[in-house]
Amino acid sequence: MDLPVEEFTKPLSETGGVLELANSPVTDACVFLETDSKDASAWGVCWIYEFRPMGCRTYPVVLDMNDRVFKDDLCPWPEGFPEATDEQRQLLLELEASIKQESEQRAQGDD
Ligand code: SF4
Repeated sequence: MDLPVEEFTKPLSETGGVLELANSPVTDACVFLETDSKDASAWGVCWIYEFRPMGCRTYPVVLDMNDRVFKDDLCPWPEGFPEATDEQRQLLLELEASIKQESEQRAQGDD
C-alpha cells in the first residue's frame, strides 16, 4: 500500500501528535472498513486486514488507564476471543511506549 499517511489518519493537531486512523465521513467507521452503513453492527470488511496496525491486531484486548489489560466491553463479539494475557499486556505496553516516542519525535520535527 502506498497511501500518504495524511490520507488515512486524523490531523495530528487533533490527536496530540499521535497517529490515529481516520473515520469515514460517510459511515463514521474506520476509513479502511468496507461498509455502506453507519450501523455499528453492519457487515463490513477491513480491506487492509493483512497490513492492519498492531492495535487492530490485539483488539479487543486493550489497556485501561492503569495499564491493566482487559477485553473491551465495546467489542461486539467478545466470546470469539480468549481472555487477555500478561504477554498481551507486555506487547501493548511496548506499543504504547513506541507510540509515545514517535509522537514526541514528531513534536520535535524529527519524523
Ligand atoms: S481492523 Fe483496523 S484498519 Fe481494519 S477496518 Fe478495523 S480499525 Fe480499520
